[in-house]
Amino acid sequence: MKILSVNAGSSSLKFQMYEMPEEKVLISGVFERIGIKGSCYTIKLNGEKTTKEANLSDHKDAVKILVDELIANKIIYDLNEIKGIGHRIVQGADKFDRSVIIDDVVLKTISDLSSLAPLHNPAAVIGIEAFKEMIPNAVAVAVFDTSFHQTMEEETYLYALPYEWYTDYQVRKYGAHGTSHKYVANRLSELLNKKDGKFIVCHLGNGGSITAVKDGKCVDTSMGFTPNAGLVMGTRCGDIDASIIPYMMEKANMTPKDIDNAINKQSGLLGISGVSSDSRDIDEGISEGNERCILAKKMFVRRVVDYIAKYYVLLNGADAIAFTAGIGENSITMRKQIIEKLAILGVELDEERNNVRGKEQLITSNNSKIPCYIIPTDEEGMIAMDTYNLIEG
Ligand code: ADP
Repeated sequence: MKILSVNAGSSSLKFQMYEMPEEKVLISGVFERIGIKGSCYTIKLNGEKTTKEANLSDHKDAVKILVDELIANKIIYDLNEIKGIGHRIVQGADKFDRSVIIDDVVLKTISDLSSLAPLHNPAAVIGIEAFKEMIPNAVAVAVFDTSFHQTMEEETYLYALPYEWYTDYQVRKYGAHGTSHKYVANRLSELLNKKDGKFIVCHLGNGGSITAVKDGKCVDTSMGFTPNAGLVMGTRCGDIDASIIPYMMEKANMTPKDIDNAINKQSGLLGISGVSSDSRDIDEGISEGNERCILAKKMFVRRVVDYIAKYYVLLNGADAIAFTAGIGENSITMRKQIIEKLAILGVELDEERNNVRGKEQLITSNNSKIPCYIIPTDEEGMIAMDTYNLIEG
């Protein structure tokens, strides 16, 4: 069965087509600069990438070209071969605790949640509608970044703010990266042959979050009302004292929009280093002796360690710790610095095992009290699997 896994942004559309249930990737790609001058798309087929210019005035143009490419590359001969389309949805709030087949009510609910994810949910709705028009017979499924975190208890997801902020304005912790955390926690269960394990999953990419998982369920996660909370990220500040915001608005004459931009786009590794949001550039700065790059990496590591320690206590121990996403899978030095700071928990790095990138692997010594693993994440595969399972019933 052919299933498309789709991630629509406001000006981009990523896709991956699978043969299910084998989870074989047939073709993948990304459409970029949709509705902007200079739009183009890249297709990856048999390990080869091809980029082409295209006139993409809206998402429908992208879906049209996608269908043409699927046929031209003999991935499908007929549109009806595509049985399902899984859409990544950033915000499902407390309305969805699992993936669902999209009907008119679901679509309206996703749209109604736009105020909680103003950049992402409207783009997802546009993506869903474009595919519905072009490939009407495929079952459309919504897979939410937030649904894995719906198992958090009230005392965890509430902020100690006026209670009416929660009841009247939906202010609470929702988390994000749920599809990734769920995938990695499932993989850990398989690797350790432990269904009822206590796992700490560190998703460290440009955006980053850590989740405490017990018996396959999320107990707590570091992102909050929005992805801004928790870790020091590429350009997001993570946890800060909220009073900094009104203080800076007054002192620097900043608007809510200015503040939003500063804490989401100008902070984190970029804000501290003044060099870049990319951990590779930070490492390059460090090798040149750049003090602010050194500081940025120290702060990043420190915050990750703080959360691991916090979740270790919350879970009353841990059966495994996993690292995933761009930095977690690829940065040998970041993992080393994090794990070395966990010595008090009896965690011991194996430098040779850690000397890999992007590969599922144990990276701690046989003596380590908690095993640590690299688990490359597979959000697209999870989206395809949820879609397949809902179609199969
Ligand atoms: P996003 O949140 O945008 O999906 P990714 O998961 O792709 O982000 O992670 C991006 C981060 O991963 C960047 O900081 C980048 O520097 C880092 N990264 C990617 N490859 C490597 C590498 N080989 N070594 C170190 N860091 C890497």
